[in-house]
Amino acid sequence: MHDDRVLVEARLKRFVDDHLAPALYRDARPLAATAWRVPGEPVPFAEAIGQSFEPVPLGWSWGTAWSTVWLRVTGDVPAEWASVPGTRPEILVDFGYNRSRAGFQAEGLAYRPDGSPIKAINPLNSWLPAAPGEHVDVLIEAAANPDVAGEYTFEPTTLGDLATVGPEELYSLQQLEVALLDEAVWELLQDVWTLRGLMGELSVDSPRRHEILRALERMLDTLDPDDIPGTAPGARDEIADVLARPAASSAHHLVATGHAHIDSAWLWPLRETVRKCARTFTNVMALMDEHPDFVFSCSSAQQYQWMKDYYPEVFERIKEKVAAGQFVPVGGMWVESDTNMPGSEAMARQFVAGKRFFLEEFGVETEEAWLPDSFGYSAALPQIVSAAGERWFLTQKISWNQVNRMPHHTFWWEGIDGTRVFTHFPPADTYISELSGAEVAHAERNFSEKGKATMSLIPFGWGDGGGGPTREMIAAAQRLASLEGSPTVAIDRPSAFFAAAEAEYPDAPVWSGEMYLELHRGVYTSQLRTKQGNRRSEQLLREAELWATAAAVRSGFDYPYDLLEECWHTVLLLQFHDILPGSSIAWVHREAERRHAEVAERLESVIADALAALTAGGSDPVLVNSSPLPRAGVDALAIGAAEAVSPAEATPSAEALEADHVITLRNGILTVVVTDGAITSLRGPSGREVVPPTARLGALRLHRDLPNLWDAWDLDAHYKRTVRELSEPESVEVERAADGSVAVVSRFSTGVSSILQRVVLRPGASAVEIELDVDWRDREKILKLAMPLDLRADRTAAETQFGHVFRSTHTNTSWEAARFEAVQHKWLHLGEPGFGVAIANDSTYGYDVDRSTRDDGGTTTTARFSVLRAPLFPDPESDQGPHTVRFSVAPDAGIAEAVALGYDRNIAPRVLVGSPVAPLISSSAPGVVIETVKLAEDRSGDVIVRAYESLGERESATITLDASFESVVLTDLLEREIDVLDGTELTLRPFQFVTLRFRGVGR
Ligand SMILES: [Zn+2]
Repeated sequence: MHDDRVLVEARLKRFVDDHLAPALYRDARPLAATAWRVPGEPVPFAEAIGQSFEPVPLGWSWGTAWSTVWLRVTGDVPAEWASVPGTRPEILVDFGYNRSRAGFQAEGLAYRPDGSPIKAINPLNSWLPAAPGEHVDVLIEAAANPDVAGEYTFEPTTLGDLATVGPEELYSLQQLEVALLDEAVWELLQDVWTLRGLMGELSVDSPRRHEILRALERMLDTLDPDDIPGTAPGARDEIADVLARPAASSAHHLVATGHAHIDSAWLWPLRETVRKCARTFTNVMALMDEHPDFVFSCSSAQQYQWMKDYYPEVFERIKEKVAAGQFVPVGGMWVESDTNMPGSEAMARQFVAGKRFFLEEFGVETEEAWLPDSFGYSAALPQIVSAAGERWFLTQKISWNQVNRMPHHTFWWEGIDGTRVFTHFPPADTYISELSGAEVAHAERNFSEKGKATMSLIPFGWGDGGGGPTREMIAAAQRLASLEGSPTVAIDRPSAFFAAAEAEYPDAPVWSGEMYLELHRGVYTSQLRTKQGNRRSEQLLREAELWATAAAVRSGFDYPYDLLEECWHTVLLLQFHDILPGSSIAWVHREAERRHAEVAERLESVIADALAALTAGGSDPVLVNSSPLPRAGVDALAIGAAEAVSPAEATPSAEALEADHVITLRNGILTVVVTDGAITSLRGPSGREVVPPTARLGALRLHRDLPNLWDAWDLDAHYKRTVRELSEPESVEVERAADGSVAVVSRFSTGVSSILQRVVLRPGASAVEIELDVDWRDREKILKLAMPLDLRADRTAAETQFGHVFRSTHTNTSWEAARFEAVQHKWLHLGEPGFGVAIANDSTYGYDVDRSTRDDGGTTTTARFSVLRAPLFPDPESDQGPHTVRFSVAPDAGIAEAVALGYDRNIAPRVLVGSPVAPLISSSAPGVVIETVKLAEDRSGDVIVRAYESLGERESATITLDASFESVVLTDLLEREIDVLDGTELTLRPFQFVTLRFRGVGR
């Protein structure tokens, strides 16, 4: 026959848009509205209901950015509608958003007059239930959330900060009415949506495609445009047969789980996320009431905690739905954090805090780590996840890789210590599916494990800004349960998927090491203040727990459980995957800075009180060594008199040679030559020169930084091509400090920003320090600090949680080439056999390394540390203003020296007057490092010690508690017993961490 496929498809589209969809509702009756504009920040229902509301008409303009309006909607639903068969009344609301996507514009939550929430209003889910004869009286809290991203053109926006948003009203009330929904038309629309979606994915050569086409054509012929409701049932009959055809027995199986990826803050402030959660969860639970088989997977204990704090009624309903098995806590983390930058203990505590919440509130033990959207995954995670009692791991983000395709979708992920965790990476390449034909077909086609495995997971529901699953998505799942030409879809819990997937594919392939995201490489650097607040908080939490524990055991100090828990929860929240990475609006980052400062103040006071209790009575100056390694002659984790540095041999000297701009510093250990502000020679005790001929260690490099997309997120490779090295200081001076240290202080200018660079040598120090005071005024630039080294390193060792990762210094493969900016924690080590250099930092994370062969045949390996960026979206003022960043460079250093240098660089030395204190906890092996000392989460007074093997070697160590105790057990991260120990001599595999629990301490 003649081929008219394209014409029939065009006819279908036009008819659905022009006739079928508009026939969904009929007989609309207007409702009346009154409104109260909230003068400032949002208020609870109880406060809103008592305000005076003014009548407002349709077309009413409302909503300056981030403001809130309460609407009271009243009217009557005709009683005679009860007798119209196949219909139900619904209230329709349109705040004036565009319907292109959910979760990024105005949205609202509807309440009954008694304050109980009904359902949310979102751009793609904008109806409320009603009943014939009902007197409507509904209050809607409408949030004028601005569309900050717009069409993702990444133009600088003033919408991200209350101070800059401006007075314009963003929305106008477009629709407020009650109308009759025709159920047959609704069902037909869902039939057609699914069939069109499937048809579009089938080959034009396939008989099935044409069967569907002709059935849809008959459906169109049957529908009378003048009587759509009357002809819809007959039209459905025409396509019933093609919808009833079962899926092929070899069809891919999709386990669909309801989901709403709600970013805990991003293009909206934290407070708005609280409301987004209330809206989404209310929607989801309304859907559960209608569909008993619907399940919704929800991560992030913090989001549940917000409901408990601010929406107790919603939280009580969540508890019921969790007990019923429909609301499924997943992930076991406090938030879906970044995983590249959180420190060892913080990464562990994400799971401790999250799992504890789910266990205590719901009695639920989550079994799957759930991180669909974080920007790359640290190689330490498999061990951390397993130690938290999780069996499985879910991600999706690696599908955003720019260059290389991850070869597996279901695999064993192996961490730095060898731990493996069964991992799935949904081939649908989205965590916000609407179960469209295109998405499910892509999942089937894309799935890498075909022939070995048969199933994948597909999270469905509007996300990022919330919204969650809709009734349309559930209808799609029902139609796709078994449909010829499509993969099958069954709604279920992630744990059901993982158990079945693991059972059918126990010999899945292995991916070893980090899952580096080949995108978003700027997030190791953007918003330095947020990162510095995080690093400082992590160190202070460590010190506060350590000294409060020691003081509790040794002097009966009252351990501040609540305060420490509150501080941890704040720090963990601010590690969310758009906060710590620096990719949120200005509002979020200014709040993060403020909250980090509050945490610091509270922790400093705990530390001061605990140290005062511990050291009471003495009258000599003592050094508080919070490092797990000895420092200045004071034992690890002890307080004692600092070793005297003999002034004659170690007090640094500074000599100006030739001219003022060549200055030599010596302290008996290091010899440092500074020329025009940069180090041109550095020698340690071995005498070997660190700096290559003519190179400048500590040179400042300013690059153009104009990402193609995603400004705060991305650092694109072309940044390297335009660089200006700041090699001519405006001034150079020598400074001496009271502690005997000497510094060469050089002043540079970019023309816009000014930078004070200090090269500091301290008495007795085996590392030279480089300190930068930057008044950063550049924009769309990246500042790098270059450290060229005269050595041939094949790889770098970069600290990660509980160990380090190696990365190549060459770019033989596309995988290595794509890793042109990477992440480190406190230190980076570069070495060749017999010689190495450790470089520690106090607050930065991004770096790159490359190698070059010189004319003299030697190799220069250059590490460059990313200090500051200034992307203009989403925070146009990001990183502007003063910053201080510090580095330490130690020659003649191995990994052990790098580990110690990392702690030294990050833990401020505290000197006070008091008595010495022996360490409460000690490790007999320097490579087995005590990361955490705390009292147990259950507040029993048991002492918890977390230690790890830091060198990448098998090592034995005895962990000693200097107090009486009844017993000691090995536990999981949640401090639950795994094994009773005879003694505390342990043999650890490379990078293994252990948690010990000392019971009955000091009794
Ligand atoms: Zn996200």
